[in-house]
Amino acid sequence: MPTYKAPVRDTEFILNEVIDIHQYSHLPGFTEATPELVSAILIEGAKFVEEVTQPLNQIGDEVGCTRNDDGSVSTPPGFKQAYDKLIDGGWGGLAADPDFGGQGLPHVIANAFEEYMISANMAFTMYIGLTQGAIASIAAVGSEKQKQTYIPKLVDGSWCGTMNLTEPHCGTDLGLLSTRAEPQADGSYAINGTKIFISSGDHDLTENIIHLVLAKMPDSPDSVRGISLFIVPKFLVNEDGSLGARNAVSCGSLEKKMGIHGNSTCVMNYDGATGYLIGEKEKGLRAMFIMMNAARLGVGLQGLAQSEVAYQNAAIYARERLQGRSLTGPKNAEGKADPIIVHPDVRRMLMNAKAFNEGARALMLWAALLVDLSQQASSDEEKQHAGDLVGLLTPMIKAYFTDKGYENATNAQQCLGGHGYIREWGLEQFVRDARIAMIYEGANGIQALDLVGRKLALNGGRALRAYMKLLRNYIAQHATTAGMNEFIEPLGHAVDDLQGSTTWLMKNALGNADHAGAASVPYLYTMALVSLGFMWARIAEAALGALASAASETEFYENKLRTARYFFSHMLPETTVHRMRVEAGSANLMAIDAAAF
Ligand SMILES: Cc1cc2nc3c(=O)[nH]c(=O)nc-3n(C[C@H](O)[C@H](O)[C@H](O)COP(=O)(O)OP(=O)(O)OC[C@H]3O[C@@H](n4cnc5c(N)ncnc54)[C@H](O)[C@@H]3O)c2cc1C
Repeated sequence: MPTYKAPVRDTEFILNEVIDIHQYSHLPGFTEATPELVSAILIEGAKFVEEVTQPLNQIGDEVGCTRNDDGSVSTPPGFKQAYDKLIDGGWGGLAADPDFGGQGLPHVIANAFEEYMISANMAFTMYIGLTQGAIASIAAVGSEKQKQTYIPKLVDGSWCGTMNLTEPHCGTDLGLLSTRAEPQADGSYAINGTKIFISSGDHDLTENIIHLVLAKMPDSPDSVRGISLFIVPKFLVNEDGSLGARNAVSCGSLEKKMGIHGNSTCVMNYDGATGYLIGEKEKGLRAMFIMMNAARLGVGLQGLAQSEVAYQNAAIYARERLQGRSLTGPKNAEGKADPIIVHPDVRRMLMNAKAFNEGARALMLWAALLVDLSQQASSDEEKQHAGDLVGLLTPMIKAYFTDKGYENATNAQQCLGGHGYIREWGLEQFVRDARIAMIYEGANGIQALDLVGRKLALNGGRALRAYMKLLRNYIAQHATTAGMNEFIEPLGHAVDDLQGSTTWLMKNALGNADHAGAASVPYLYTMALVSLGFMWARIAEAALGALASAASETEFYENKLRTARYFFSHMLPETTVHRMRVEAGSANLMAIDAAAF
């Protein structure tokens, strides 16, 4: 049976010693988030997922969701009870606005808990994950009445949210969307169309489901410029907030899929369903992007969380499985063989995952902190700076974390040999579950195009300039700090690779857009590795500081330095290869005629 132990000590180390969230204790939300409270939340959160949701992960995968004859959908055994416990414990509204019943804590705290939730049971966590995005969208563009009607119920978990973009002929290219919204005499709209692949489209966890649906009005342009956003509740809501008639939206079928079986992925039929415009007419994509941006960081977190749980199980196995002898002489002389963790190749797979997980956790929490600062910082300038960085980091975190999440889950499976391939050990489920995160919420190739084609140039390149300055300043400040040179020097080389790749793009991509397309993934990888390098330098700095002040837990800090060294010597140098790929341009990629493939 697979196991999971939430990495509470590591999260606390990052929050308290690396990104130091307590320096912001003067800001709203952070005032309440004292180290004691944060510690209590993490410990209780870890207990919750380890005892309640993780034990349901395998059964959720094996049994999956069921569409009943009446069209209703049942979640796997135990999910409803676990959901009720989650809501009773107030875990759904950690970062939500207190005006709507939330606890008003910083996103960075909610993000830390969400990682544990996903590692323990990704399919289950998706039911509440999208609800957070629905709350953000309604809060940003909804009318006062819509906010009062929907947000409190979404925050307290009595209702869930969904996000409806995809149609059979329309995935990445939303301009092709054909769901229609006909204005009705009472100001509502009749929604007609079919959406596919809708996560949590129907289920038995909550009394109502609030669908956010993209559709076009009859007089709108038949392109992305004609898309509006609508709220379509499963049950209509009466004036007094009670539930009214069943709306004409239903789950036509459940998709049969590779992983996340515990989450219902639905074909949703809108047969004249009553919908309400949210935000301005034809500004639907802008409103939906609020939901999608929140969801994109959440999907990046899925990559990290799956990598972590797969790694934990592979590490346990590698310490116990006896096969062969160490190349440098027996390490378990009394036994018939050594544990496989003595073999450098098994170590390679484990170290790649460990160095990614711990660096990515720091990067994820820093990004979540930036989300908080973009909303709560003291000055407009600080808000803008934080918002710019979030915009730049979001596509990178979504794509790189999920690519690595899948790769690390596969390598963890490899550590178990044939036992990784059979069901009992749970590794093959992690691989299957991790795979979807590379596809949904904008496939990873699209994230790379968003980074290179949009985010780099936005506001005259303001975000990238700010990030490069931050990196260069950090390098300059720590170049002569005792013990830091072994980390700062390679970080400097990687930043040079990022700078070189950017300069090449500026010179070449404007004249040939295929150069930008060809460079997009290696460029994104370069920026991701640089960002992890930045985090690993900060981790090493914190570890050196703790060791210098004769901290306890010496082994914990020494292991941070050992892992940092591995990252800088074995993983960061990849930036040079990615830079060469960027600079190779698109000619050889595009040379062969499509018919020859
Ligand atoms: C389990 C699951 C759950 C999902 N949940 C939801 C949900 O809750 N709500 C929702 O609305 N949707 C959901 N989706 C849909 C998902 O977001 C889409 O599958 C995804 O956006 C890709 O669209 P597509 O499948 O049509 O692929 P396509 O758009 O056909 O793309 C196919 C491939 O071509 C590439 N490609 C396409 N266009 C370009 C381009 N211009 N440049 C470069 N490459 C390009 C893509 O990167 C991709 O690799 C879900 C899907 C699954 C499988």
